[in-house]
Amino acid sequence: MFASHRLRHPLNANALLRRLSKQAAEKYDYVIVGAGSAGCVLANRLSSDPSKKVLLIEAGRENRWLSLHMPAMCLDNLNSTWYNWKYQGAPEPGLGGRSIKHDRGKTIGGSSSINGMVYIRGHPLDFDGWRQSGCKGWGYADVLPYFKRLESYSGGGDEYRGDSGPLHVERPDTEALTKPLNVAFMKAAEEAGYPISDDLNGYCQEGFGPFEKSIHLGLRESTARSYLKPARQRSNLTVVTRALVERVMTSEQTATGVVYKDKRGQEVTALADQEVILSAGAVGTPHLLMLSGIGAKSELEEHGIEVVADLPGVGANLDDHPDFVMKYRCLQPVTLYEHSKPLACVAAGIEWLLTQKGVCASNHFDVAGCIRSGPGVQYPDLQFTISPIAMEGHSFVPMQEHAFQVHVGLMQTNSKGKISLQNADPATPPQILVNYFQDERDREVMRKGIRLMRELLDQPAFAPYKGEEVFPGKDVVSDEDLDRNLLESTASQWHLTGTARMGSVEDPSTVVDTNGKVHGIEKLRVVDASIMPRVTNANTNSPTIMLAEKLSDAILSIPPLESLPNEFWQHPEYATQQR
Ligand SMILES: Cc1cc2nc3c(=O)[nH]c(=O)nc-3n(C[C@H](O)[C@H](O)[C@H](O)COP(=O)(O)OP(=O)(O)OC[C@H]3O[C@@H](n4cnc5c(N)ncnc54)[C@H](O)[C@@H]3O)c2cc1C
Repeated sequence: MFASHRLRHPLNANALLRRLSKQAAEKYDYVIVGAGSAGCVLANRLSSDPSKKVLLIEAGRENRWLSLHMPAMCLDNLNSTWYNWKYQGAPEPGLGGRSIKHDRGKTIGGSSSINGMVYIRGHPLDFDGWRQSGCKGWGYADVLPYFKRLESYSGGGDEYRGDSGPLHVERPDTEALTKPLNVAFMKAAEEAGYPISDDLNGYCQEGFGPFEKSIHLGLRESTARSYLKPARQRSNLTVVTRALVERVMTSEQTATGVVYKDKRGQEVTALADQEVILSAGAVGTPHLLMLSGIGAKSELEEHGIEVVADLPGVGANLDDHPDFVMKYRCLQPVTLYEHSKPLACVAAGIEWLLTQKGVCASNHFDVAGCIRSGPGVQYPDLQFTISPIAMEGHSFVPMQEHAFQVHVGLMQTNSKGKISLQNADPATPPQILVNYFQDERDREVMRKGIRLMRELLDQPAFAPYKGEEVFPGKDVVSDEDLDRNLLESTASQWHLTGTARMGSVEDPSTVVDTNGKVHGIEKLRVVDASIMPRVTNANTNSPTIMLAEKLSDAILSIPPLESLPNEFWQHPEYATQQR
């Protein structure tokens, strides 16, 4: 075992290799760092060839705890320090210096094991935008076959949907779609003149429709369950948990392996014959790159880390979706309030344990709207969702009355943030600065979103249910008052992306090429949400799984699936109309 202070530096890899000749090191073809949404996909696909030895290293534990599997308990995971990195962000200038908590999964399945289980791909124009930004082979027609390949959609396969992939995707059932608040939400959208789409992952993403879920037979459908579990018995796949990777070893601009601390705190070296693949997520991956000497030269030097590759894009370009929650009393007893009482919770928990059915088998996000904030916006930049229960203040404690809450999400941002080092110690979390609302245009769209949500809930269909606006309150109407509330209450939708941006090597803001290969370093790839050149206009789990599927082919030198130039709906008069 090696003393970390002596070998902290990646350029010491040769010395390290010399020492290794005397001491046993683990040898693999592929070493994957992080068993999250992307890492589990890769572990499955790369180990499907029995001749390839694959190591998957995860900092967190096995995903054994009940709350990681019961959909209705998803918020409980956010209180856990075992399963959640629970990062505390830097003071956000656009939020009056307030610091945001950034939850990230720290277990097998990564964030797909603690997320909200919403399943939505993003708009076709997101991917066409990726292609236009320099990512050849990543347009909608190119990624659609991979979205189809990854899913088993309960609504059945067609030219847009897959029916035989590893990940089960459930369309909310009739019982969910006929719940009074869901019916009223959809009807109000129709009355307000918005398009209705039967499939927000199909031909038409714009408008209101059923919100699909990564839930199957009442259980969370993480990538741990859908991808890793079926591969886990393979003798050529090794999974190590409670192991923090501290750096990538490089020699002559080539990745040779990684060094990690095992659960006993011992340093272990794993060598990769073919490739090291970083799937540590939008926070973990840039952190690890920088600790390994790959990042902005000035920042690395400031922390005494020798530079292996000067890539200023590492950690930059951080994207997220800000979230603003509005709360209303409900005039009728149609919410989940009764189910939130202690005895009812126990009864529902027992029902789920015995049958995997009932209230605990859902995330309770059944319908949603993807809308444009105004004329001239090409495709949806706002997401509206409704939850049939409202929480007290900023807590996860339900209000003690019938109430519901609606979420306004800003889905295309102009502000960009940064992940940076606090110091060179791998155990110190990096600094996360999202820069919410640094660009005034973002705040303006959020104000529009709040006003559009109020307009929606003022439609006749909602009159039987909408009581007092508890938050932000009906008197909060001026720009100044809305801005104050945005500053005090905006939270993250947990969609951190973009910190190892994919694109052309000529573009200095990028870190990896269109095959996920790190610029200037051989045998090192990034495959996770950090390579998205721009965040999609919806939740980010589905596109992360898609990109891992696509890059697994690139790693195995399998030609990409044939592109599918399917049509998609765009408002014909988007330039002059909002709806
Ligand atoms: C609370 C929450 C709710 C969300 N809700 C939704 C939703 O409803 N729908 C949706 O589509 N998206 C949602 N998201 C976002 C989505 O889950 C993520 O975008 C996606 O999971 C990212 O996948 P990833 O593979 O990039 O990273 P992750 O899944 O986060 O995986 C990274 C893995 O790497 C491990 N790791 C990190 N550093 C190291 C290291 N140094 N050594 C070893 N292992 C390491 C981590 O522990 C983790 O397991 C949510 C996210 C969160 C956190």
